[in-house]
Amino acid sequence: MDSITNDCIPAEAVHSPGVARSDWTRDEIHYLFRLSFPELLFQAQSIHRMRFDPARVQVSTLLSIKTGGCPEDCAYCPQSAAYETGLKAEKMMDVAAVLAEASAAKAAGASRFCMGAAWRAPKDRDLDAVCAMVEGVKALGLESCVTLGMLTAPQAGRLKEAGLDYYNHNLDTSPEFYGDIITTRTYQDRLDTLETVRDAGINVCCGGIVGMGESLEDRVGMIHALATLPTHPESVPINMLVRVEGTPLADGAAGIDALDFVRTIAVARIAMPASMVRLSAGREKMSDETQALCLLAGANSIFYGPKLLTTANPAQDRDMALLKRLGMTAR
Ligand code: SF4
Repeated sequence: MDSITNDCIPAEAVHSPGVARSDWTRDEIHYLFRLSFPELLFQAQSIHRMRFDPARVQVSTLLSIKTGGCPEDCAYCPQSAAYETGLKAEKMMDVAAVLAEASAAKAAGASRFCMGAAWRAPKDRDLDAVCAMVEGVKALGLESCVTLGMLTAPQAGRLKEAGLDYYNHNLDTSPEFYGDIITTRTYQDRLDTLETVRDAGINVCCGGIVGMGESLEDRVGMIHALATLPTHPESVPINMLVRVEGTPLADGAAGIDALDFVRTIAVARIAMPASMVRLSAGREKMSDETQALCLLAGANSIFYGPKLLTTANPAQDRDMALLKRLGMTAR
């Protein structure tokens, strides 16, 4: 955090607390980030409890169905073909293998199965297999989510027809900082894909990453961009950068203080009160206490399982033990 003030700020600085609205100003988001930590957490908790059971956490499992060789240049990502990270590019998994993983995820307690492919955009022929995966995941009684890059309207329509529940496509950071992180597609490309997904009637999963060297203003800008979408994403993953050797962000970027990460979660909760706020990448390196604070700040969803696409995630046993210690339950 650049600096914190405990100055008394009028309560009316943020109007209509708890209402899902898209007219947030940057000043309002800025105000939230600069609240004292106790006040911020109190507001986030109060709003969280208006809509959610504070003791329940939604659990998703994420599988990389097509790993590596991606033509995009996202500076944090080991799957980009632009970086030497030692990750081997693989062909798309076959449908049966994916469904076996989905079955195992369900048995381990997941309620949603997310499938990620390292593409700039899927080819129409790739979608045949992805649609079969979505249908199979749904038949298991799980919610389905995919992240495949940019989509055309007919592709989004096909996924909807297959029964897709969620499409993940992150804004990553603020519009101003975005060009420092990705040069191969624009912020507007991402907004267009989100609109295409929304128009197809698919729920949106969209969030970002912190700890990439962004300023406080960029964190404000990221939450502002998410919270001013015409409809808030139903799911908002907030990731802490996982540094991967060989990527441009392997070292150098300043990272983020754990309490500033908690602040980001709390501000996301307040700004998007009806959304599931997902504690995503970076949990492996977080203490149980930091994760507990995130849950207290309004995070109510986690990824579960040993891997997040290609980076490590806390062991399932550790997750379940933590929830148990907190008296919380997964669903
Ligand atoms: S984040 Fe996605 S789009 Fe970007 S390089 Fe990685 S796989 Fe490709």
